[in-house]
Amino acid sequence: MTEATFRTAPFLRDRQRGHLPARNPNCATAFTEIDLDAPGRQVGFLHIPHSPHDDAWGTVRIPLAVLANGDGPTVILEGGNHGDEYEGQIVLGELVRDLRFHRIRGRLSFRPSLNAPAAEAGLRTSPQDGKNLNRSFPGDHAGTITEQIAAYVNDELFSRGDAFLSLHSGGSSLDIIPSALVQPTDDAAQTQRNTAAAFAFGAPFNVLLNNLGDTRTSVASAVAAGLTCVSTEMAGRGTVTDAALELCRAGAQRVLVHWGVLDEAYAKEPAAPSAPLFKVLGAKSYVIASERGVYEAFHRHGERVEAGQPAGRVHQIFDPRRAPVELTYATSGVVFAKRHPGVVVPGNVCCVVATST
Ligand SMILES: [Zn+2]
Repeated sequence: MTEATFRTAPFLRDRQRGHLPARNPNCATAFTEIDLDAPGRQVGFLHIPHSPHDDAWGTVRIPLAVLANGDGPTVILEGGNHGDEYEGQIVLGELVRDLRFHRIRGRLSFRPSLNAPAAEAGLRTSPQDGKNLNRSFPGDHAGTITEQIAAYVNDELFSRGDAFLSLHSGGSSLDIIPSALVQPTDDAAQTQRNTAAAFAFGAPFNVLLNNLGDTRTSVASAVAAGLTCVSTEMAGRGTVTDAALELCRAGAQRVLVHWGVLDEAYAKEPAAPSAPLFKVLGAKSYVIASERGVYEAFHRHGERVEAGQPAGRVHQIFDPRRAPVELTYATSGVVFAKRHPGVVVPGNVCCVVATST
């Protein structure tokens, strides 16, 4: 057996940054048999007490695993934040089962299907409370199930972690160019660490993206706590895309090698050379439906488009007397994401344009 070789772990966590705690810390009731700080290999569940009609003293069960060996960074890995995004859930389950223990240096803290009720239902939002976990941070220990999941991650995991890998896909409503995302921060050094991690993932497309400044996402909370973060978008359409799954497998391993927590041999496939860095940072990137109808897009993913150019049209299928209504791009760039379902109502995002940095 050859000796495992690791990269020197880079600086990953600024612990001087304030960690914003979840609401109502004295109400926390989540429990697990897993010791988050112990060495070794542990696979089990987090239980959040839940008392519906058919399970008076029941719990909601969320899978988790910790693989820890020797000294190195603590990396939090998240899949299934949205239950209809599958590549990350598959890849993290594979890593939990297949990683060779002696090839880890540090601690890998897995949440393969974090919003487990949503994942079991194949939905973006939780059937327990209708909430979107990625709009629920920093969470509330006395809140709904989704808010309690966010609170647990925020207070128990981000307080322990050095880095955070958040694996998303486009979900049921979007089809997105497989890409690694950089969360911009007000700290240039931290943004640089996030950017380096995104490039290490090795996607053919990298994007600075901040969800229009929304701070209720897991990545925004992790960034606020000082962790180095990278997230992904892997195709979507509510299905598993084979090319995106392969990229997600290889990319997750490359980031963990980059952070010095997996040995070099895991980064066997080369990262995409000189992939561009785009940005989606303002409302002008979004083409939004103005009418109810069926949307026809005029451009493919990756196509170059110009501000003022027609993006597509909403067909008025409910009234054949009415002509389609055209939508236009508000900025120039390339088509990054497109709505998947045909039917739109006013307010739906039909297309997202990524612009050059
Ligand atoms: Zn997502």
